[in-house]
Amino acid sequence: MTKTAVITGSTSGIGLAIAKAFAKTGANILLNGFGKPEEIQAVTDAVAGLTSGTVLYHPADMTKPEEIADLMATAVSRFGGTDILVNNAGVQFVEKIEDFPVEQWDRIIAINLSSSFHTIRAAVPAMKQKGWGRIVNIASAHGLVASPFKSAYVAAKHGVMGLTKTVALEVAENGITANSICPGYVLTPLVEKQIPDQARTRGITEEQVVNEVMLKGQPTKKFITVEQVASLALYLASDDAAQITGTHVSMDGGWTAQ
Ligand code: NAD
Repeated sequence: MTKTAVITGSTSGIGLAIAKAFAKTGANILLNGFGKPEEIQAVTDAVAGLTSGTVLYHPADMTKPEEIADLMATAVSRFGGTDILVNNAGVQFVEKIEDFPVEQWDRIIAINLSSSFHTIRAAVPAMKQKGWGRIVNIASAHGLVASPFKSAYVAAKHGVMGLTKTVALEVAENGITANSICPGYVLTPLVEKQIPDQARTRGITEEQVVNEVMLKGQPTKKFITVEQVASLALYLASDDAAQITGTHVSMDGGWTAQ
């Protein structure tokens, strides 16, 4: 049976790498995320080229519950339900607590936390019917530890960890697992672009930005790659990982061991 994977925020970065990894297994893929029409078309074509299954794109905005419901209903109407759900869409905003804009708090909680509630509640009925399902939530090292000025992000990612554990207990006897992945700093296009900018504004070399600013707390002093995160998502969705549930796997170069 062809499996169907729904990956939120899969037009770039980690989500796109996860979509490609699942496509290589022959799965149907439901892509989601923002981008210019030509970028979305290019991403859809690239993913479609990797799978014998069907690849669809849905533009649901993760701040809008009714659009998320439509995304998940599309998985049901086109593919008979979601087998593998990857909650990956996420955004960041950095500001001290007393100046943190209320609308940024609401936006981050909606995208980074509440959207996972909306997708999971919609995905679980078909998973229960099939007696098989995989829920993989892309949390962060910030689901385990904090950094200053990231109150909304850290709160949302800690929330994802709690949601993951609760769902895992509720569906434990239905062949469904729910787990979080907690990456440290991953080299995504977004991060890559910041390196020359930060070097310029701080008056230091690009190497110093990487080692002394970005990877200061990551003991390996190396970025995680999107392919490494995707490979872990693939493993958590496999039958070998059937007894891993209600937990998280860190991929953070030793960050949270400190
Ligand atoms: P990214 O910016 O490359 O990708 C984010 C994706 O989410 C994009 O496809 C974007 O279009 C989509 N998105 C943003 N707002 C959306 C919305 N309202 N509705 C639908 N889609 C939306 O970022 P990334 O680095 O690949 O991050 C992916 C996930 O990994 C996030 O949850 C992030 O918190 C987490 N993460 C990233 C890192 C890192 O260092 N890059 C580390 C730990 C955790």
